Amino acid sequence: MFSQNPVFIPGPTNIPERLRRACDVPTLDHRSPAFARMLPPIFEGVRTVLKSRDAEIVVFPATGTAGWEAAITNTLSPGDRVLAARHGMFSHRWIELCRRHGVAVEVIERPWGEGAPADAFEAALAEDRGHAIKAVLVTHNETATGVTSDIAAVRRALDAAGHPALLMVDGVSSIASIDFRMDDWGVDCAVTGSQKGFMLPAGLAILAMSPKAMRAAATARLPRAYLDFADTHGALAKGSYPYTPPVGLFVGLREATEMLLDEGLENVFARHHRIAEGVRRAVAAWGLRLCAARPDLHSDTVSAIAVPAGFDANRIVAHAAEHYDTAFGTGLGDVAGRVFRIGHLGMMTDVMALSGLATAEMVMADVGLPVRLGSGVAAAQSYYRVGAPHLAKTA
Ligand SMILES: *Cc1c(COP(=O)(O)O)cnc(C)c1O
Repeated sequence: MFSQNPVFIPGPTNIPERLRRACDVPTLDHRSPAFARMLPPIFEGVRTVLKSRDAEIVVFPATGTAGWEAAITNTLSPGDRVLAARHGMFSHRWIELCRRHGVAVEVIERPWGEGAPADAFEAALAEDRGHAIKAVLVTHNETATGVTSDIAAVRRALDAAGHPALLMVDGVSSIASIDFRMDDWGVDCAVTGSQKGFMLPAGLAILAMSPKAMRAAATARLPRAYLDFADTHGALAKGSYPYTPPVGLFVGLREATEMLLDEGLENVFARHHRIAEGVRRAVAAWGLRLCAARPDLHSDTVSAIAVPAGFDANRIVAHAAEHYDTAFGTGLGDVAGRVFRIGHLGMMTDVMALSGLATAEMVMADVGLPVRLGSGVAAAQSYYRVGAPHLAKTA
């Protein structure tokens, strides 16, 4: 059943009416000049959102997970070593994907709720004098725990160790909602998908590769076929695709980058910060805690909320779906049953967030948690009332 209620899961996110219409296009021959003309402005828009001047943009008909796979198979060879931290379900899955491809992963284990440890990365890189480590993998925003890591600090760690490894960043739940500075941070490979910050249906894996990553791609020997950059590039040079691309999603991606740039990237990031801060104040008013260990790790795109010990957080998500037709995120992996998640990325407004908080309160009261109706909503209202600076600027 479909309802008009917004979703509060951290992907897929709510699709604005403007983007739903944009994706609805008649069949277009993807070997036609009209399709070839569409591509450069799309890639330019993505580059701008990522704050990159010269990154190579590669888009596959796939999802973020395929983006991870494309990133490693196009840049690494069998037996190569990579360095990664495991501190949530998404960092865990990327590590497992590497292992299935025969890549040796040096894993730094961190408690779930912590971020990527720049200091531990630096120590591991400094020890690797022979430069056996070919890439450092970082999950910018750990969607399972609501933790944002400091990518600039990881870049400083690489530089301090004088290490040439590629810096690969999973930005699936950050890009286009939280500031991402591909060039400033020296990111070599950034990965996202269409259904998160870009507010589109699922179906596009979006990658950005630095010139250094593209040089690595010229000699990388991991097997790849569908996700081979060389094939995509060869076809793109002729203004086409090696297989049938979802043209409607490409049109949607162009429109999405226009929406983001019309609002202004800094305004988009400020909006997400304000909405998230209101959610965090609601959580505090409920007497609950976030999974994120410290305020500097708080994610502006998803809040993972710890429930009292002994209570099954999945009951909240199930009850919300059943009684109020509203989607919240469940806990994943190590925090399954211990947290529920409120996603607030992509198309989200103060008013939408308030409806989610109000619904969460009804659910928690229904299932017997000691939450006073209106307490979190009031805390968020007080914060949102203070002003919506982005609206003033773009009016
Ligand atoms: C959603 C998500 C993924 C997986 O993306 P899919 O599009 O579902 O394959 C990977 N990493 C992070 C951080 C995510 O939030």
